[in-house]
Amino acid sequence: MNALHTLGLAEALNLLESGEVNAVELTRAHLDRIEAVEGRVKAYISVGADQALAAAERADADRRAGRAGLLCGAPIGLKDLLCTTELPTTCGSRILENFVAPYNATAVEKLLAQGAVILGKQAMDEFAMGSASEHCAFGVPENPWMPGRVCGGSSGGSAAAVAADECLAALGSDTGGSVRQPASLCGVVGLKPTYGRVSRYGLVAFASSLDQIGPITKNVADCALLLEAIAGFDPKDSTSVNRPVPRYRDAVEHWGKRLAGMTVGVPKEYFGEALDAEVERAVREGIRVLQEAGAKVVDISLPHTEYCVAVYYLIAPAEASSNLARFDGVRYGFRAQDAEDLIGLYRKSRAQGFGDEVKRRILIGTYALSAGYYDAYYKKASQVRTLIRDDFTKAFQTCDLIASPTCPRTAWPIGEQQDDPLAVYLSDILTISANLAGIPGISVPCGLSGENLPIGLQLQAAHFNEEALLSAGQALESSLKLTAKPNL
Ligand code: GLN
Repeated sequence: MNALHTLGLAEALNLLESGEVNAVELTRAHLDRIEAVEGRVKAYISVGADQALAAAERADADRRAGRAGLLCGAPIGLKDLLCTTELPTTCGSRILENFVAPYNATAVEKLLAQGAVILGKQAMDEFAMGSASEHCAFGVPENPWMPGRVCGGSSGGSAAAVAADECLAALGSDTGGSVRQPASLCGVVGLKPTYGRVSRYGLVAFASSLDQIGPITKNVADCALLLEAIAGFDPKDSTSVNRPVPRYRDAVEHWGKRLAGMTVGVPKEYFGEALDAEVERAVREGIRVLQEAGAKVVDISLPHTEYCVAVYYLIAPAEASSNLARFDGVRYGFRAQDAEDLIGLYRKSRAQGFGDEVKRRILIGTYALSAGYYDAYYKKASQVRTLIRDDFTKAFQTCDLIASPTCPRTAWPIGEQQDDPLAVYLSDILTISANLAGIPGISVPCGLSGENLPIGLQLQAAHFNEEALLSAGQALESSLKLTAKPNL
């Protein structure tokens, strides 16, 4: 048997089921792996070794008693903005340092109800604002494939931990690409579900009309399994949709039958000049592979793509400025010591507690929402958002899937773009449209660059058609048979 930490989620669950390993052994193997590689990868903000081992013992007991849930005994990691009662939830920010939530996020509750073992909380851009996980108050994770390279963001720690075998799988959050883009840069699978598919209750809000929790996994089958575990209606989230959860694993198991007859659209706007040549080559090859596996490929157009970045960087900061108003030094976490009065306390706590990128977003958002500017900015952006959504509605009349790169480039050196926020915002161009339209998207590895850095292919589908993403994702994975792993 291979070293236990190298297993995938479904694979590990099979071994647990057959009794070849138990949850305590599997959890220990992951804690040892974390110990061995964290100095290099820095994927975790906190690791709960004792809690994890206790949960593993309970999982083993449950399995012996015939009460094994879907994920019984599986060690899983969480992005550090999912609320948990047993470990702090920092959101990568000083302002929430040592904050312990009074309740678990619904997605976390669902994992626990299925017997999952929570290993720890993973590094991220502060409040999920960023594309490289460099804006983390507790250290910057490094790409497992190459020291000194970014992991992508904002769920960079989660993608790195999965790629480095420091957990079987992880949950991240995606407001403008934060599950898919780091998955792409770290060579793993990441899926953003349809808006409303997964409850946002207990996910610390960044931009509420865009946020979704999504799985980050070593392969497509694991992604289907984890999505199945967390999806579904939740009365605690009024935007969650009351619609049955399909058995997503079927879409993976029967991918051949499902893919035949599907049409894959290739939008010309997603293959512009800024696209790295190696990324383009690998993605076009991936599309050819889908064609060979039975899909029909057609050219399409999403004419409002050029407005996506501008629209997103008005709507997301506007919603963030409102959501982050609650961090005032009184109710949660960090409080400045030397304030003279209440307003001074708010000011100083926020000035000292938030990092630069969060402050930039709060300033932009507050400005865009202020009297006299609301119509010119937020309202206008919301109108253009409708046009972007209409582009997709029209496109899905002629195709089932839209294929593109996930990110225009491979993982860049840490620090390279830190002084150029606009350049970083622009690199989000391929992922933010799915959030604006509310549709699901997946990133699946489709090759390596000459430097041995992963390249991801993104597929998008119509609302609630995650199954098409999973079938096509499995087609890619089965045909490409990529076996390279980071050398750690
Ligand atoms: N990179 C985007 C941003 O900084 C997306 C972040 C996300 O999806 N959380 O806003």
